[in-house]
Amino acid sequence: MTALFEQNIVGERQIIDFHTHPYRKRGEFMGMYGESFYLEPEEMPEDLGRAGIGVFCGSVIDSDHRVAMESFDRVREVNDAALQLREKFGDAYVPGFHVHPAFVSESLAEVERMHAEGVGLVGELVPYLQGWQQAGCDYGSEALMEILARAGEYGMVVSYHTMPEWPQQMEKMVSRNPGVTFVAAHPGQKEDYLHHVERMRKYPNLYLDISGTGLFRYGLLAACAQTVGAERILFGTDYPICNPRMYVQAVLGEHISQEDKKRILFGNAKRILGI
Ligand SMILES: [Zn+2]
Repeated sequence: MTALFEQNIVGERQIIDFHTHPYRKRGEFMGMYGESFYLEPEEMPEDLGRAGIGVFCGSVIDSDHRVAMESFDRVREVNDAALQLREKFGDAYVPGFHVHPAFVSESLAEVERMHAEGVGLVGELVPYLQGWQQAGCDYGSEALMEILARAGEYGMVVSYHTMPEWPQQMEKMVSRNPGVTFVAAHPGQKEDYLHHVERMRKYPNLYLDISGTGLFRYGLLAACAQTVGAERILFGTDYPICNPRMYVQAVLGEHISQEDKKRILFGNAKRILGI
């Protein structure tokens, strides 16, 4: 029974990976051991497919962004990259795009452009890679509120990298934009995870994806299911930074119901992304 359930989900590639960073070239490849491990972009769907993942979502990141940005051109370039990858991968890829609070009018124009392109996912926003701090911005910046309000008008979903050092700013962002569905990335260690739960209890528009650090602590999903409910947890890996099969096995191996596993692995993502 369990074996059949797992075989079905993995064999049929039913899983939606809400949190990935696809790439067109080495400069966009986020794998940490890039000097010894690199796959061509064309190999990505099959590589994820072997883990049972049939659809992957998320933004392109250029590792050259690790410096403060002087213009919005570099943001637009990675957003263009996401659109190009959608051409390449079709329905298997749900693109996410970046905005930047230091560039308000440019970001608003980007929201319009992406909406016209049928893109409804903002992020993952990664402030520490795109020079937000150097530009004096954070998740509480009024400039960001203006950009997110526009995204909210279009019913967009916003994926953001959790910045534990910005607790009030994260709270402000989520509470000020009730029309936006937010997905915090990375449960983190227990203390960080409990902060996520606290915020999720207060704000029904806040979700959590299980990518990155945290899931290797056995029982994390049972804790989520019992506190905020499995309806607000999304499967994610942070591929190609993290090994996707580890995350799939971790979900399948937790002591939660099959219904909750299906919600986490694909049901919730389908619902909030409308796919
Ligand atoms: Zn992240």
